Amino acid sequence: MSRTPALLVTGADLAGGGAGDVLVVDGTLRAVGPDAAAEAPAGVQRLDADGLVLLPGLVDLHTHLREPGREDAETVETGSQAAAVGGFTAVLAMANTTPVTDTAEVAETVHDLGRRAGYVDVHPVGAVTKGLAGEELAELGLMARSRARVRVFSDDGRCVHDARLMRRALEYVKTFDGVVSQHAQDPRLADGTACCHEGELSGRLGLPGWPAVAEETVVARDVMLARHTGSRVHVAHVSTAGSVEVVRWAKAQGIAVTAEVTPHHLMLTEAEVAGYDPTFKVNPPLRPHEDTLALREALADGTIDAVATDHAPHVRQDKEHAFADAAFGMLGLETALPVVSTVMVAEGLMTWADVARTMSTTPARIARLSDQGQGLAVGAPAHLTLVDPTRSHTVDRALSRSLSRNNPWHGRRLTGAVHLTMLRGRVTAREGLVWGADS
Ligand SMILES: [Zn+2]
Repeated sequence: MSRTPALLVTGADLAGGGAGDVLVVDGTLRAVGPDAAAEAPAGVQRLDADGLVLLPGLVDLHTHLREPGREDAETVETGSQAAAVGGFTAVLAMANTTPVTDTAEVAETVHDLGRRAGYVDVHPVGAVTKGLAGEELAELGLMARSRARVRVFSDDGRCVHDARLMRRALEYVKTFDGVVSQHAQDPRLADGTACCHEGELSGRLGLPGWPAVAEETVVARDVMLARHTGSRVHVAHVSTAGSVEVVRWAKAQGIAVTAEVTPHHLMLTEAEVAGYDPTFKVNPPLRPHEDTLALREALADGTIDAVATDHAPHVRQDKEHAFADAAFGMLGLETALPVVSTVMVAEGLMTWADVARTMSTTPARIARLSDQGQGLAVGAPAHLTLVDPTRSHTVDRALSRSLSRNNPWHGRRLTGAVHLTMLRGRVTAREGLVWGADS
């Protein structure tokens, strides 16, 4: 990689810790704090960041990049660009591609496509079961030992609902300090046609729904399996107040459980579904307002460890159907930080230090990424995200870097915008523009 010139970022709020300077030399944080300017070499480039917040590069535990197989919806390159624009420096790419990421070969392919694109570190998630079929364990050990060093395993999109298989997966990943990320949803507690939250509203709309308990029973079972095996379990996209209660209880027992919440479950409720707009069809579904409030509280108090996007691009033909027939999922990479800023920081529920914890440090730790999430520490790789905390903007889906347009935030006003993203000291995105592609 070519050497980047030394850069002095001045006057930024350092992840909620007060104003200071940061000196970047050779892709590394060389100095942080009041004395950083004194250590800068002559002729150093300066970036005036007065009024901006400097965060460690964001890490997304849950992204669907669609490549291989559905390059019409997203590629590793376009998804990486969207991630960089959104302030991310690393993403975990889910395994439900075609072919499924259930072998070392596919994991290495995705990993290498990420390196070639070069905008963010792309870490493939390995499937728990072959073909996501829920019958036989995938090549967990081979994926872990591959060049892609897979540590997170998930059948996301589907639940590993066989308890025996889940137990074996947990025992297996423990041998290399991996984690199973569970899409908690008991398929037997919902009709195969379920497409929204089961409740009074779904009854009125005539749509089949998932009850909250379909998620909560699997979360409860899995934390007990984690206790039994002494292994780590991660709950993907927690969406109900009951799941939060279970996770809170499990953590109090010392069980190694972590959990993530999506920006859409923090901000949007089932009320969006009333217009039958498939843009708001997502799995797990948008829930009632009480759940949204419980999720915000749990993220703020640390019960939920991380924000993860569940960025799920879909082409128009798959999304523009009657609600019951449309594909599940919504875009999220470019809007995650603004949504968290709007719903958590601007509302006084979280500080920027909390954002750094839930969107960078902790997700990197959960995924055991050695090169990410080290915060603004001297010697850490210069993965940086500069945020303008007060800038409001109205989301326009046409401006997305993603190949898809299923954007639930279109037309919404959000407060807080990503100004610049840097990966190993190199600017990858600035004001929505992508380095190398737009400049
Ligand atoms: Zn999922």
